[in-house]
Amino acid sequence: MEKHVQKYVDDFMANIIARNPGEKEFHQAVHEVVESLAPYILENPILQKMKVLERIAEPERVIMFRVPWLNDKGEVEINKGYRVQMNSAIGPYKGGLRFHSSVNLGILKFLAFEQTFKNSLTTLPMGGGKGGSDFNPKGKSDNEVMKFCQSFMTELQRHIGQDTDVPAGDIGVGGREIGFLYGQYKRLRNEFTGTLTGKGRDWGGSPLRPEATGYGTCYFAQEMLATRNDSYKGKVVAISGSGNVAQYACEKATQLGAKVVTLSDSAGYIYDPTGIDADKLAYVMELKNVYRGRIKEYAEKYPEATYYAGERPWGVKCDIAMPCATQNELNGEQAQTLVANGCICVAEGANMPSTPEAITTFQQHKLLYSPGKASNAGGVATSGLEMCQNSMRLTWAPEEVDQKLHSIMKNIHAACVKYGTEPDGYVNYVKGANIAGFMKVANAMLAQGLV
Ligand code: NDP
Repeated sequence: MEKHVQKYVDDFMANIIARNPGEKEFHQAVHEVVESLAPYILENPILQKMKVLERIAEPERVIMFRVPWLNDKGEVEINKGYRVQMNSAIGPYKGGLRFHSSVNLGILKFLAFEQTFKNSLTTLPMGGGKGGSDFNPKGKSDNEVMKFCQSFMTELQRHIGQDTDVPAGDIGVGGREIGFLYGQYKRLRNEFTGTLTGKGRDWGGSPLRPEATGYGTCYFAQEMLATRNDSYKGKVVAISGSGNVAQYACEKATQLGAKVVTLSDSAGYIYDPTGIDADKLAYVMELKNVYRGRIKEYAEKYPEATYYAGERPWGVKCDIAMPCATQNELNGEQAQTLVANGCICVAEGANMPSTPEAITTFQQHKLLYSPGKASNAGGVATSGLEMCQNSMRLTWAPEEVDQKLHSIMKNIHAACVKYGTEPDGYVNYVKGANIAGFMKVANAMLAQGLV
């Protein structure tokens, strides 16, 4: 990197770190974006003068609130609730809610920041937001989850709306939680609008929204592979996670002719050398979505599989790796192992799952590597399509939504290639996604003045 560009990055980051102390995931996410954008910003003085990136890195609004609720024993529990309304330059705030014990403001700011670029990439009119709570749904009864969701929404409802801010699911927030949240929203506001996405199919949900993030990640990887005249056919795929994104990434990769050999949760991973086929995946879906069990039970049900406690699946030999669990779940050393084992493609279904060292390794070895903000954008894109259907009070056929999702993922890939191709022909998807995502938001902010 040239000296003056490095100085711009260093000065920018020093300011971010001083203004947002202790928020290490937020620093990491901003650093990656500033590194990509610095040369572009330095060539466009108006962006510097109007401090567009500085403004993008400062949330328009942060809402923090107390969430009191009663557990099944009649005891008082108190959680923290958050909504980060990051950027509304190109549309209402849009982004998921995460319920996980690790949730804090820094993590939600990193997610909301990434979301702003991701939503812009989809080409749909959606701004960036993210929210959630340190509430941990694991081990809670349905009744407790409902009580929590109702209390959470009692406060959140005054800050959101179909034209203001439209939350969706994320880690720990699936169909059950969206149902409870939406029920309470509707009760308090006395309106049936598309204020949440990821709703049930019978009450305003879009076909294919549950599938969209995992499917979209595979569609994106398909496009990357096609640049090297390759495909999923016959490939061995390692997937981490066993939640919403991992399940549907597994389904689509299998449909496209690959063999998926791993899934994981926060306690360990399973390796099934014979492949996780449709029947086994149906078992995983029931285990995770209905019984809310642990992935180790897979190895008890299918003896051909082995469970590795406390480990991640990146030591398994694979052609394609799809991290679909959480942030910073794939480090530099694990990236080296993947490369040494012949991995050719890493498509992120999770948000920021690869550490900066891992990304450098992938890029140095010229792997096909896509950051989550590009490859997992199919989830929010289909949420955007749900908003569209809700506004029209119509529901499209699943095939129509799938076709739109597929074409959005192809367009995001094309935008990354346009802005991320290096002089030697290698596509830097990080750079491509950051520049393409930034331009639309930046132009809107310039047009709208200092707000
Ligand atoms: P789920 O809650 O459905 O599943 C999360 C999975 O990741 C579970 O298997 C969980 O295991 C595992 N996991 C969570 N935290 C950790 C951790 N600290 N270490 C190891 N494993 C962990 O969430 P989603 O599938 O919806 O989300 C997964 C990722 O995809 C997240 O990064 C999310 O931000 C991203 N994403 C999701 C979208 C969506 O539409 N849902 C859209 C775009 C991105 P356990 O059960 O043990 O906690």
